[in-house]
Parts: sequence; structure tokens; C-alpha cells
Amino acid sequence: MTVDAHALLALQVLDSELDQIAGRRKRLPEHAALQAELDALARWTAAGDAQRSSLDAALESIEANEAAGKQLDVKQARLEAQLKTVIAPREAEALMHEIDGVKAKHSALDDVELAAMEQQAIAEAALAELAAAEPAIAAQVAEARAALDEVLAQIAEEEHEVRGRRDAADHALVDSDRALYASTRKRFGAVGFCALDRRSCTGCHVDLSQVEFEQVVADSKTSLAECPHCARTLVI
Ligand SMILES: [Zn+2]
Repeated sequence: MTVDAHALLALQVLDSELDQIAGRRKRLPEHAALQAELDALARWTAAGDAQRSSLDAALESIEANEAAGKQLDVKQARLEAQLKTVIAPREAEALMHEIDGVKAKHSALDDVELAAMEQQAIAEAALAELAAAEPAIAAQVAEARAALDEVLAQIAEEEHEVRGRRDAADHALVDSDRALYASTRKRFGAVGFCALDRRSCTGCHVDLSQVEFEQVVADSKTSLAECPHCARTLVI
């Protein structure tokens, strides 16, 4: 049985069209645009996490310093009460020295607490700013996603239409032609059958010489003609 080269070329044209559609889908600028918005969202989330950690650490520090400060207050009150009862000057001096030490410790705690309160204020302000930015970031992600979905839907529609024609062309083939087509396409990556554009092979885009052209024309009358440059099947 002779091979229906024109039917195989028709199928090849449709497969190439599908390959182009797939390539176009992959290279859509809308993918990068959505990714940019998702990256911005990720940065926003990370910034929020960092500020929340900073806030938690500040609150923890404030609480710890408050508790330690209260213990020092108790100790100071106890020492001051004790001071009122002692008579010996040396003992009183020792107590006053101890009280001064407690006061110094308290003052150091207060400094740490003040710094923590500043950290708390900074984190709270940053979190408020981040919260205010959330609607805009979410809207940009949604907008980019919708834009991508819209183009993808158009491409899917186009692909569906081409695939319908492709399946019909495939269905019309005899089994041996279908097998030949599949193996040829596989062998050449994507394009196994191609047309001549004047004297140029549309597979490798090399111009055939007069002798090569005549040979291809002669071969195609009796069997499948090969491009002398890329070995793809040339259909005339
Ligand atoms: Zn060629």
C-alpha cells in the first residue's frame, strides 16, 4: 500500500500548530506577571512574620522585666523595713548598700524594658502598615491570576479546535501510515514531514539545488522523497 504523504503532511501541520500553541502557553508573559505578584505577596508575608516575631520577643521581654522588677520592689521594701529597725550604724550602712544595689539592678531592668517597648512600638507600626497594604497586594495577585486565566482559556479554546481537526486527520489514516508518521515525528523531534517552499525545505530551511530538487520531485512520484540535507520527508 502506498503512503498517503499529503495526509501525513496535513497531520504534521496540525501537530506543529499544537506544538506552537503549547509553546505559546508556556511563554505567556502573564505567567511571569503572576509570579511577580506572588513574589510580592511572599515578601509581604515574610515581613509580617518577622514583625510578629519581633513583637512577640518584645512583649516577652517586657513581661519578664516587669516580673523581675516586682521581685526587686519586694526586696527593696523588705530591706527598707529592715533598715528602720536596725540600730548599729555598720548594719545600717550594709543595708543601705544593698538597697542601692537593688535600685541599680531595677534601673538596668527599666532600660531593657524601655528598649523592648520601643521595639514593640516599631513592630506594631510596621504590622499596621503591612495590614493596610494587604488589600492592594491581594487585588494585584487576583488581577494577575485573572489575566492569566483569561489568556489560558482563549488558548485552550484554540487548542481544542485544532485538536479536533488533528484527531479527525489522524482518524482518517490507515494504521501503517499512522505508525510511520509517529516514528518519523519521533525521530526528528517534532517535524518529520514537511512541504517545499519553492525550493526550500520547510524542515531545515536549506534551499535545494536544481539537481536535488529534480531528484525530490522524481522520488515523490514513486515513493517518499527525503530532503537531502535533513532527511525529513518532503511532500510535494
Ligand atoms: Zn530539510
